[in-house]
Amino acid sequence: MAERERMEFDVVIVGGGPAGLACAIRLKELKPDLSVCLLEKGGEIGAHILSGAVIEPRALDELIPDWREKETPLKTPAREDRFLYLTERRAFRLPTPPQMHNEGNFIVSLGDVCRWLGREAEARGVEIYPGFPGADLVEEEGRVVGVLTGDMGVRKDGTPGPNYQPGMELRAAYVVLAEGCRGSLAKRAIARFGLDRGRDPQTYAIGIKELWEIDPKRHQPGLVIHTIGWPLDHRTYGGSFLYHFGENLVSYGFVVGLDYRNPWLSPFEEMQRFKTHPAIRPHFEGGRRLSYGARALVEGGWQALPELVFPGGLIIGDAAGFLHVPKIKGSHMAMKSGMVAAEALAGGLGGAPGAARRLPRRACPNLGDGGAPCGAQHPPGLRSFRSLRRPRQCRARHLSLPRPRPVDAPSPPSRPCEPASCRTGKADHLSQAGRDAHLRPALLGLPQQHQS
Ligand SMILES: Cc1cc2nc3c(=O)[nH]c(=O)nc-3n(C[C@H](O)[C@H](O)[C@H](O)COP(=O)(O)OP(=O)(O)OC[C@H]3O[C@@H](n4cnc5c(N)ncnc54)[C@H](O)[C@@H]3O)c2cc1C
Repeated sequence: MAERERMEFDVVIVGGGPAGLACAIRLKELKPDLSVCLLEKGGEIGAHILSGAVIEPRALDELIPDWREKETPLKTPAREDRFLYLTERRAFRLPTPPQMHNEGNFIVSLGDVCRWLGREAEARGVEIYPGFPGADLVEEEGRVVGVLTGDMGVRKDGTPGPNYQPGMELRAAYVVLAEGCRGSLAKRAIARFGLDRGRDPQTYAIGIKELWEIDPKRHQPGLVIHTIGWPLDHRTYGGSFLYHFGENLVSYGFVVGLDYRNPWLSPFEEMQRFKTHPAIRPHFEGGRRLSYGARALVEGGWQALPELVFPGGLIIGDAAGFLHVPKIKGSHMAMKSGMVAAEALAGGLGGAPGAARRLPRRACPNLGDGGAPCGAQHPPGLRSFRSLRRPRQCRARHLSLPRPRPVDAPSPPSRPCEPASCRTGKADHLSQAGRDAHLRPALLGLPQQHQS
């Protein structure tokens, strides 16, 4: 049997969407000497990105400040917003909700934006491996230390074929999971380290998209239409979007919340029916469909975000659940979370390649309310990323990396909360990080206070 090849990097990023690429670019900008590897399961960067989106450029403005002077795929500024309520025959124009105004935004092919970001990342020295899915996490002593890529040449029945090639073991000081909605490795890390403990369950929708080339006479570049109502009933969450952009292109999509009650409802057929509405049909008449696809969206919002940090890595972008639900936009959030993650990692990684593995962990300098030091041992950089997601109820300021605990392990028994200032008197209301903050003084023999 062929040997598994092993490679070492400072950071391995799984997923070449906006989150992973922004993280890679930012890392190389901050620490050009770091070795950064990015895995993408699609045959090329952008191949698995569902095209056609309105994106807010503010994360891009921070990531590549001079992007407006470069040749980029952001060519169509959003010019007009229409928000419609549809009945079977009629369309009523409603005021556009404030968060859905698109002045300053751009209508793009997100796949093209990712291809361009991929080139920017490569120009900075990121090693991009398209066609390599991250298949499993490598764990040692309760810490993720790398990623296994998928085996090649496996027969349909799962046995090795004549061209069998075992996947590579990519070892890294930190692994960043940027796989998008319901990423397989992110799901594994969340379950393994109990990162969703105390959080709302994640919820999902399905988005079906089509890209059309329409009659030039009907094309209104920069027009953004969102609809609610028909063909969905008032108990089913969902709606449509229609964006005119590029050279006579229209990106049309239909989103349905996956908690729909009618078991006979087919999101695909509703999407097709929608195109026959008298207010919508004229956009497509005389045009042709170029491509189509479907993908899940995270819809749980802020309260469903898992803990973002696990021993040896981080989760960013849609894999964590950073889609801004009221705006129905996730690309800028994905990019920003990737950038913040990169800044946190760069703080924890020394200048020389491989330095993080040798980096001494130091005592957390954060203070509790009473001024007592936390004292827990963190890699320095991770704390700032972690501060994006504080425990909601108990605002213990000093947070530690969550301790790995098997998912099926019984919950810790209910204990009274010792600090005098805790108003609930229970430790059970805390997230894992908060629980650690409660437990730590007992372990370290330090006094502690917190707010609850
Ligand atoms: C129908 C629809 C419409 C949308 N419209 C908009 C919009 O108008 N504006 C907006 O801002 N946002 C929109 N979004 C949301 C936006 O697409 C996401 O928020 C954004 O793409 C998230 O970026 P990401 O990098 O986290 O994940 P993704 O863009 O999903 O990228 C993840 C990448 O990781 C790769 N990958 C996954 N698993 C693995 C693995 N195990 N190994 C290797 N590679 C892997 C995938 O192939 C993919 O390339 C829309 C989403 C949908 C579904």
